[in-house]
Amino acid sequence: MRSADIIESIYRTTNAAREELRFLIENRDEESTQLLCGLARKRAVEHYGNKIFVRALIEMTNYCRNDCLYCGIRKSNKNAQRYRLTKEDIMECCSEGYSLGFRTFVLQGGEDMYYTDDIMTDIVASIRAEYPDCAITLSLGEKPRESYQRLFDAGANRYLLRHETADPEHYGMLHPAELSLANRMECLRDLKEIGYQVGAGMMVGSPYQTVGNIVTDLLFIKDFAPHMVGMGPFIPHHDTPFAHEKTGSAELTLFLLALVRLMNPKVLLPATTALGTVKGNGREMGVLAGCNVVMPNISPMSVRRKYMLYDNKLNADTETEAAYESVKSSMKAIGYEVVCDRGDYKK
Ligand code: SAM
Repeated sequence: MRSADIIESIYRTTNAAREELRFLIENRDEESTQLLCGLARKRAVEHYGNKIFVRALIEMTNYCRNDCLYCGIRKSNKNAQRYRLTKEDIMECCSEGYSLGFRTFVLQGGEDMYYTDDIMTDIVASIRAEYPDCAITLSLGEKPRESYQRLFDAGANRYLLRHETADPEHYGMLHPAELSLANRMECLRDLKEIGYQVGAGMMVGSPYQTVGNIVTDLLFIKDFAPHMVGMGPFIPHHDTPFAHEKTGSAELTLFLLALVRLMNPKVLLPATTALGTVKGNGREMGVLAGCNVVMPNISPMSVRRKYMLYDNKLNADTETEAAYESVKSSMKAIGYEVVCDRGDYKK
């Protein structure tokens, strides 16, 4: 096997066998990385041109009923200062985001039972009524199918729910016993059947992750065919059981992003904040490896430091407009243009 042959075959067919993916990852070097990233970039440009879609991220609550071992807002973290945004706060963020040019709002948060279906559908319906030209993305964790349906009917279009790892045993090492991969997968299927544009994904370098796990993730993504893939490095948070684990590699993350692009040519692929946190020009490098989305944070400054999933999060103290301007100019510097567009999945 030669890496170059495998990469060119994935570029042509969008398919790869388990052993080919394993070989590529285990034998990656400068040369194969350059080839892979170059082709991934070419594929992204073929479908999306040099346009970068932006999503305005609103971190609406850091209360969470779950206890994921990697996450800084897990319920056992007694040092987290908890907050939740009111509907008025959220509408205010949307208004600021809209004037800056955002046409997608992403409401993300822990699994906070304060936001009942009635409260959440009211928030979604209000955004939908005020911004009919915008996409509404939710990232609020696992819910019963009926709740997903009500939110969709109220006007939500997309849902981000990373599968985290497609290996049930590995899933068990990252989560408490009451959470299961089977339920996560059922949620993903429900979301897709209801009609959401769905995002799956995982952290790169999460504790106990093996190359075999990563290959399983890539094959799951290919098979499930999500519209979006959220994939960034794992970064430890000092108040979690994984405080002393290693940070995921930016280099491996970039390699995997490029593979995801080649295997799923039209997928909406964000260059994540986590990638920008572990590597100075991480988000630009992400775009050069086939990413076509960036998600600047537009949460109120007063809560930014409280939504700490991991340590040293990028732009925790940068004002919304300044951070957005910096995204625009850094994309321009590498030949890309941030566009004022909903940025839907291309059928
Ligand atoms: N509660 C929702 C859920 O479970 O999907 C959304 C919020 S959750 C905090 C969003 C994502 O943050 C997770 O899917 C996870 O992959 C990522 N995340 C959490 N802790 C992280 C860490 N320490 N390093 C990198 N990413 C992390």
